[in-house]
Amino acid sequence: MSTTTIGKICVAIGETQPAKVEEAILKTGYQADYIELRLDYLEEPCLSPSTFRNWQRFTDTPLIVTLRRKANGGAFAGTEAEQIMVLERAVEADVSFVDMEIETIENFLCGQLSTLRKNRTQFIASYHNFKDTPADLEGIYQRLCKVQPDVVKIATFARSFADNFRLLDLIEKSKRGGVPIIAMAMGELGVYSRIVAPSRGALLTYGSICSGRETAPGQLSAKDLKDLYSVHEMNADTQIYGVIGYPIGHSLSPHIHNSAFRSRGLNSRYLPFSLKELRDFGPHLRRFSGFSVTIPHKVEILDYVDEVDASVTAVGAANTLVKKGNQIRAYNTDVDGIRFALRDALSAKDLRVTLLGAGGAARSAALVLKEAKSHVTVLARNKDRARLFAEEFGFDHDSLSQASRYRGDLLINSTPVGMSPHIGESPLSEDSIDYRYVFDMVYNPIETRLMREARNKATVISGVEMFVAQAAKQFELWTGLEAPRDLMEAIVVERLSTAQ
Ligand code: NAP
Repeated sequence: MSTTTIGKICVAIGETQPAKVEEAILKTGYQADYIELRLDYLEEPCLSPSTFRNWQRFTDTPLIVTLRRKANGGAFAGTEAEQIMVLERAVEADVSFVDMEIETIENFLCGQLSTLRKNRTQFIASYHNFKDTPADLEGIYQRLCKVQPDVVKIATFARSFADNFRLLDLIEKSKRGGVPIIAMAMGELGVYSRIVAPSRGALLTYGSICSGRETAPGQLSAKDLKDLYSVHEMNADTQIYGVIGYPIGHSLSPHIHNSAFRSRGLNSRYLPFSLKELRDFGPHLRRFSGFSVTIPHKVEILDYVDEVDASVTAVGAANTLVKKGNQIRAYNTDVDGIRFALRDALSAKDLRVTLLGAGGAARSAALVLKEAKSHVTVLARNKDRARLFAEEFGFDHDSLSQASRYRGDLLINSTPVGMSPHIGESPLSEDSIDYRYVFDMVYNPIETRLMREARNKATVISGVEMFVAQAAKQFELWTGLEAPRDLMEAIVVERLSTAQ
């Protein structure tokens, strides 16, 4: 088999009825370089060779047929003998690949695939472990090679981020053996390996036919693998960036940054790093080119960096990491985002500002307002927090419940009030909005209730402006190139509009 198959996507189909399998094969389209048919999802998997022949007529894409038994993490309740009977029919129909668990090959076929070899069908010997990633991956690889398959497959559950590296190292090492390999870590922590594995030499990576139809934990949709991460164009030189946070399932950042990289012709990708805790991951930061950092890691991440920018020292939190040489430097580009969003408002001197909220985003705003020598009153629902915050920055303070008593030049909402799904809420009643500028840091929805109610009285500034500006600054810090701001904004607006 040729090794020029790097960057391939296998669309995994798990349907309960043969007619639905047909429909799904027809739907796979341009994303599929291979199609995996998970026969164990069928209510009646006892298929005839003619059914397999029929399915092959619907597509030019090679079919991989598998009937994984319950004992090995699949859904097929039959015996090994029944499993082999069905797979033999697939071989009779000359499907491109049959994927068989190593347990069945060793137990039922006594380690001999040769008894099944017929026609052009190639055999994938697979090892699945839904509990963890065992220490001896090399041993598992050798065990699979022993049955002389055409391809080996190892899918293990990631318990630690480092499991990704171990599987990717195995792919690199296996190149010497000459047997093509499919290897990935499953689960939320294994997403990295699913995206990167083909660029390291894996034969393929699996993607679901659409989101919500995953056949294994951590599987991404084939569409995202192809369109968002362009795995087909990744190679060993691809620079990897990403967002570290939890949860980050709905983050807009991969959409913005991957499009920005593509528009500037960069061989770089921006991946999601969904990490509940940093302990295991922090020591590996230097393997990557840069990161966005979001809730809840903006402060703890500082334990793992070498240098901090003045913006980080002032705010006490970072949202961006940049690798220069072997050093990781932390920045806070929320500060840049706020400076950009308020560039007109802050062109006047001695502004009277009401700042709602005393959290991380409010701290970034405080830095910019202090630079501009504004007169700020910070209002928070926890008055003690408001007091401490105000003392630190030399501001006045009050309780958020008193917000209707304040007026001035600029109102900034840095609380999440009004954010989706609570879009009917506002931190201030309509009749007490009395400002020249109103800046709502909330960017989902694009127009919050506060913005809508302020529109006739004030110049309204959207959180989208800040969000795009902070992302643009990240792009510039990472690449040294001017960010494609218009493109980035268009993506944010499009994705937020379709999400509503
Ligand atoms: P944070 O650190 O958790 O701070 C949130 C602040 O809002 C705290 O003072 C908190 O008060 C207060 N708060 C929370 N829920 C509230 C409620 N229901 N009523 C009144 N006050 C409430 O969060 P953050 O990182 O500063 O983010 C704040 C907002 O800014 C979020 O909506 C976020 O999406 C937005 N943001 C936007 C951008 C952008 O680029 N546009 C960037 C960063 C943040 P307690 O201390 O009492 O909990």
